This record gives sequence, C-alpha cells and structure tokens, in this order.
Amino acid sequence: MKVVRRPALSVLFGVLAAAVLIIVPPLAASAAGPRIDLQVLVVTNGSASVSAVAHQLQAEGVPYRTVDLRDSGRPVIDEAFLSDTVDGAPRAKYQGVVLPNAAPFQNDAEMAALAAYEKRFGIRQLDAHVRPSAAVGMNAPAYSGPMDGVTAQVTEPARGDAFRYLGGPVRFDDVEPGVGETSGFVATPLPDDPGAGKSFQPFVTATVKGTAGTIAGVYTHDGRSEMVLSFTSEREQWHFQTLGRGLVGWLTKGVHLGYDRNYFAVHIDDVFMPDARWSTEDNCTPGEDCDDVETEDIRMAPGDVSFATQWQTQHGFALDMTYNGAGSDEAAKRNGVDPLTTAFVAVRDRFRWLNHTYSHPFLGCVQDTSSNPWQCARNQSGEIVYVSAATIEREVSRNLQWASSRGIAVDAGELVTGEHSGLRVTPQQPDDNPNLAPALAKAGVKWTASDASREKAQRVIGSVRTVPRHPLNIYYNVGTAAEEVDQYNWIHTRRSDGGSGLCEDDPPCIEPLDPDTGYASYIVPVETRIALTHVLGNDPRPHYAHQSNLAEDRILYPLLDRVLSQYWSAFAANTPLVNAPTSALGDEIRRQDAWSAAIKDGAMDKGDVTAYVQDGTVTVRARSGLEVPVTAPEGTRQGADGAPFGQAYAGERSAYRAGDVTLILPGA
Ligand SMILES: [Zn+2]
Repeated sequence: MKVVRRPALSVLFGVLAAAVLIIVPPLAASAAGPRIDLQVLVVTNGSASVSAVAHQLQAEGVPYRTVDLRDSGRPVIDEAFLSDTVDGAPRAKYQGVVLPNAAPFQNDAEMAALAAYEKRFGIRQLDAHVRPSAAVGMNAPAYSGPMDGVTAQVTEPARGDAFRYLGGPVRFDDVEPGVGETSGFVATPLPDDPGAGKSFQPFVTATVKGTAGTIAGVYTHDGRSEMVLSFTSEREQWHFQTLGRGLVGWLTKGVHLGYDRNYFAVHIDDVFMPDARWSTEDNCTPGEDCDDVETEDIRMAPGDVSFATQWQTQHGFALDMTYNGAGSDEAAKRNGVDPLTTAFVAVRDRFRWLNHTYSHPFLGCVQDTSSNPWQCARNQSGEIVYVSAATIEREVSRNLQWASSRGIAVDAGELVTGEHSGLRVTPQQPDDNPNLAPALAKAGVKWTASDASREKAQRVIGSVRTVPRHPLNIYYNVGTAAEEVDQYNWIHTRRSDGGSGLCEDDPPCIEPLDPDTGYASYIVPVETRIALTHVLGNDPRPHYAHQSNLAEDRILYPLLDRVLSQYWSAFAANTPLVNAPTSALGDEIRRQDAWSAAIKDGAMDKGDVTAYVQDGTVTVRARSGLEVPVTAPEGTRQGADGAPFGQAYAGERSAYRAGDVTLILPGA
C-alpha cells in the first residue's frame, strides 16, 4: 500500500509547490495567521434558551465547552482561558461564544476579556435571550409578552446567510391555548452609525398584536458581531427547531464539526398479514387480551395499494413495506388467489421492501401463554427455553425466497422481526435470545430493528447492529379513526370518564376525545409534533406503523400529510427529508454514536481530535478509525484533489471523514 501511495503524494506535492511558486510567491514567506479551534464556548445561567442552543450543538455533533455561571468553582474567563499560542501562532480556543444574554457576568472584567477576544479573532457571539436596548443596537421594546401562535418572517439577508435552508416563515407554537409557551420582545433597531462602526441587521421580524419589529438580528459594533434573540426558546418548540441549525451555522461562520440531516423513513409492518381488531365494546384485542370476543381482522385491499402508490407519487416519498410472505400464502390457500398480493406485485418496484420474517412468530423465548401476561417457558432446571437458531434462520430465509420468487427486491442484510422479538423484552425475557445472533449471521442479516421506545440506543449483537425504530402512536389494531379514538380514550382517560384509568396511575389523563373528530383534531397534531421532533433532531431512526393503518379509513395518511406539510411550510428545497433504507440509517446511527461517544470521552481535550481553521484552510486530525463529521460552506474544496467537499445539504456541504483532512474554504 505504501508503495502505491508514496509516488502519488510526491507527484501531488510537486504540483502544489510549483503552483505556489508561480502564482503567489509571497505566501511561502508569510507567517501563519491565527488558528481558530473548532469548538464552541457555551456560558449558561441554566436558562432554557441557552440549553436549547447547547442541545442543538450536541444534536449536530458540534463540540462545545460549558461554563456554568451558577458554579462557584467555574473557571474565570480571561485571556488565558480563551487563547494561547501554538507553534508560534496565536490560537483562539473557541470559534463561537453562546451567552444567556448580552452581559451575563457579575464581574465586568470577564465580559471585557470576551469582547477583546471576539474582536481580536473575529469570533461571533450569540445572545440566547435579550431584552432589547441600546446595548444591543435596538430601541426599547415596543411589545413585551407572549409570542404564542405568532408567525415570524425570515429576512432576505438571513436567507442569504446561514438561514438559506428556510423556505417559509417561522411559526411560534401555541400547543395549549391559554398557557403561555414563549415570551418575547418586539423592538426596532437603532439607526446604523457607520462612523462609529455600528449597524444592526434584522434576521427575523414579526408583527405581534399590531406591533411590528425585529425579534432576531445581528448587531455589529466595536469590531464584534453579536446575534441577538429577543424571545425565549425550548428545544422542542417549532420556532427553535427551525431556527436552530441556522444559529449554529451563523455562530460558526458555517465551518464546524458535526453533520445534521432531517431524516424521515416510515416502515409499514405486517404487509400481507391480517392484524387483529380492537373491540370497541369490550376494550380488548382478540389474540392479545380478549376472552371469548371476536372481531373481524384488518387487512389491506387492492385499492389500498393503488392509494399508497398515488400518495407516494404526490408526496415524493417512499414507504418501506415490511412484509410477511405467509400472510399472502395463507390468503391464497383460503381463496385460491390473493388479490392483495397481485396488486402489490404489479407495483413492487414502487416501494422499498423489508423482511419481517415469513410468518411473524415470536423469536425470543418460547412463550407460555397460559397466563396473562405471558411468561417465558422454562425447562426442568428452571432455565428459559428459547426459539432455536434453525427456526429463526428458516423464518428469515423463507421470507426472502418468497419475495424473490415474485420479483420483489429485498436487501437480505435488513430485518425486522415480529414484535422486535429475539431481542430482550422486559420484564419477561431479560436477555436476548442467545440463538438470535448466530442465526442472523448465518442468514446474512447485518441490521435488525429494535423498538426505540424501549431501547433508544443502537446495540451490537454478534455481527448484527440494531436499528431502533420510533413507533408512530397509531395503533396496529385499528382500521378506522373511530377505533383509534376509542382505544386512545381507553388508555388515556380516567375510570370516571369510561377509560381504563391507566393514566391515573401514570399521569396525565386527558378529557375523552370525540370519536368523530378526535383523531384529526387531537391525535394527529400530537403525533405530528412528536414525529417532527425526531425529524428535526438529527435522528436517523425510522418510524413505523402497520398495514392496518393503510387499510379501511387509511388513518396513517392524515398524520404523514401533516408531518410533510408542516416540514415543507418551513424548509427550502435544498433541505429535503432524507428518506433512506434501513441499512443506511443504521450506519448513520453507528457513526453518529461513535462520534458523540468520542466527544463525551473528551476527544477534543485529549488530542484524539484536532480541528481548526487557519489561513482559510480547515485542518482535521483524528485518531485512527474515528470518522469525524465536518460541515463547511458551499464552495469548500478538498485540499488533496481540489474536488468539492462532501455532499450538499441545507445550503452547506458536509461529510464524515476518517484520517487527516485538509479543506480549502471558499475565497481562500
Ligand atoms: Zn409485525
């Protein structure tokens, strides 16, 4: 390998040296400029607004150091804390500074040290929540109070800067009418004063109760650049979820470690199988917890397949069909032919397909269902009896064969077991089925789904990694909106309201929803918010629902429609939803986890990762094997070959890179 690499490098160096000599001879002689390390300083007073910014940094994978003003043992912020000298060049240890407000220190010397530091190195400052005043280049507030339900506008200068991923207005939540969620100030900027080097550029404007003004903007003064936000934020509020990426982009001048995508994938489980139906009379489900109650199973019909394909085309979005071949075979055996299978096979290439095992058996312990809830069967020595490796392997392989014989393309490396079984499930089965890993390895499985509501973290099981999936809270055992509401009411209302009272033991309870309107007016908005929190949280985990939700009332679509329409109400076309196969999402989780573990382990302080900008060049060095996420502005080129760096997303370029990285920033 060395033999191949050496000549290539020397050729490259020869070319570069020649180019430098011919085009810019003085460069070689000039001393290195200041070095700016790619790490952010977060000064917090514990406010939610600062926590929201810190959370955004963490979610994107941006390293940051926190100084907590409430901590009496905290370091003093002075010149030595902020900067030093490395290899003869001055070094800024932090590329951006987050403050709770414009002047949070009791000791004026600390703010003076920060101001001098920012001016010296061109470091930007973000004030998480400020009351407008001349100190931040604004007049006193013309409005002060709740911002709930306000729709704010992003200015053209903001869209030309770090907010180029936004395509629409910024909406402030009003989740609970009558409850104040966000408060803010609306004010107008002071006139620019070019002589004194003072100016204010509005980034977000709003009219609240008839008062128009600015709620976010950049105050340039004393050779410093300060982003002023005059509203409160919590990390799961829509306004912050939409603005957060841009705040980080602005603070870091678009160059930072981290990699952020808006992921959304939706798995439809149990395709071809019937799902049992909730009994609205007996508040139970046959096969699960009903005695002597029967309901009609729910199974998609051919018309549901054409609806699904049309919906996909209209929305430019692909669903993952998580299928069980036995459902098709059993229907064909009963009726001679299965029209649902015929319909799906005719449009098989329009969907992604995922192996859900042939007949959806429980692949953990052998279940003893003589009592409710079930128990793991035990042998005479009292040990748990597990489903065999042969059974697991057969279920996986037979379902692949079923698809292959119908021309359905399936990635054999991806699997979703029935109920995520085989993996531990508390309290009954505290350990993974020991036969799972060897059976999956033999069957060629690399990724198997887990339930993110039970286990949010990815796990390694033998040669397999899990892909945790978020359940969409649409029940598997309902075909109509009325059934969904009925079961929702059963779970979430008080005994005195006709509910199970489970919510009384595990609050909160809700008032009963109207069977006719409760789905659209309550459940869909609540579940949309939860799904979008994942989508906008740099979370690659796919979501899942069931085939029953595409049948009858097709209740999944109103939820998906709302997720997509809310997303596109805010984001621009340069920031598409990443709708990727399970294996790709699993790999995103893997490298994201590895990077956040490295940061948590102190990689930046220990020197496992060195990352800085100097003279228009980004340098990243990392310990062997660690993939480092890097985000840089459009126009950034790779130092090695001059090719554009990474992939375009959200008006930036980004990629994970292993080994040493040199990037040339635009204009350098
Ligand atoms: Zn299933």
